[in-house]
Amino acid sequence: VSDLARAESLIGSIPDYPEPGVIFRDITPLLADAAALHTSIDALIAPFADEFDVVAGIEARGFLLAGAAAIAAGAGLVPIRKAGKLPRPAASVSYALEYGTAEIEMHDDIAPGTRVLLMDDVLATGGTIAAARELVTGLGGTVVGTAVLLEIDALRGRDALGDAPLHALFHI
Ligand code: IMP
Repeated sequence: VSDLARAESLIGSIPDYPEPGVIFRDITPLLADAAALHTSIDALIAPFADEFDVVAGIEARGFLLAGAAAIAAGAGLVPIRKAGKLPRPAASVSYALEYGTAEIEMHDDIAPGTRVLLMDDVLATGGTIAAARELVTGLGGTVVGTAVLLEIDALRGRDALGDAPLHALFHI
């Protein structure tokens, strides 16, 4: 088995979490495995080599990947957080969830033209990444692409992202 196939095999599927009928994809066993983590981070950033200045990680599991990716790429790290968590003036975008709405924020002082790679663990409907793109571009940054560990293909989140490059390491 290749290193990446082994890493993929470590992603768990937890039935009925966080609610009945939902299958939660759990990346924590992959993160806990040194070889799988290293291989996955390298593969996540490879298509965007030298194209970005910062990795923007989305709370909370996106943080776990983005920190490692930023170090591996020699890039900076910017957090995109749930509303109300950032200490300085921030821009905010709301988006629809299956039930209700969510709001994410980013400090509003990124330098114009900063090249940003968005990063999260799972792409489902695409609502979160679409909102993150809106945040970054609204602040004058440039989204060079999005990297996720796992894309749930049937939810068609890719269609919500327009034509900016999306790199999903694994698919379900
Ligand atoms: P979307 O906005 O519908 O694409 O949902 C993506 C967001 O929900 C990401 O921030 C993920 O961390 C989270 N998410 C959705 N489904 C899962 C899952 O099965 N496992 C882990 N995170 C998930």
